[in-house]
Amino acid sequence: MDSKGLLIVISGPSGTGKGTICKEVLKRNDFWLSVSATTRSPRKGEQHGKEYYFLTKEEFEAKIEERDFLEYAHVYNNYYGTPKSNVIEKLEKGKDVILEIDIQGAINVKKAYSEAILIFILPPSYEELKNRIVNRGTETEESLKTRLESANREIECSKEYDYVVVNDTVDAAVRRVESIILAEKCKLKKM
Ligand code: 5GP
Repeated sequence: MDSKGLLIVISGPSGTGKGTICKEVLKRNDFWLSVSATTRSPRKGEQHGKEYYFLTKEEFEAKIEERDFLEYAHVYNNYYGTPKSNVIEKLEKGKDVILEIDIQGAINVKKAYSEAILIFILPPSYEELKNRIVNRGTETEESLKTRLESANREIECSKEYDYVVVNDTVDAAVRRVESIILAEKCKLKKM
């Protein structure tokens, strides 16, 4: 039997509710959420080492040089990356690890670690996605347009994923994600 943990990657366009789904899945299961590094500034209430490791551009680039990341990407003009050593250590110890990262990152993780399970979270409809972003009240008309355009491009990329989960209700979406993980754990690994 393979005693290594599963590497589960969750992505989806801004406004799909992937953060809420991840939080619920983590509350209900003994998984480990990887803390990413980023060069973006902390938002109100965010703490170094909790939501992210907040690094300067120079610090981040030094870590790229040292090959410290499992993957990294440029998202909305900042660097974001998954520190490699923690993730590998947890997987080796048999712990299941969740990465909540963007699409470029997910595709790079799959290249570096082919056993990774990629799950894409979709909104129930384009209209619903638009309503959710508008109702958050955080976007200007211009940035709403950018986010919706980028959502369209990202949805196109969902074909690269192993699974797609529609977030019609959080509870149903969480149960679907848990079912995928359970099925993957029961899967026979063919050589
Ligand atoms: P935010 O700045 O809103 O926290 O995150 C912006 C985007 O960056 C989200 O799509 C999030 O999933 C993605 N992201 C967060 N951490 C990482 C990471 O380590 N690598 C990559 N590639 N994307 C990340």
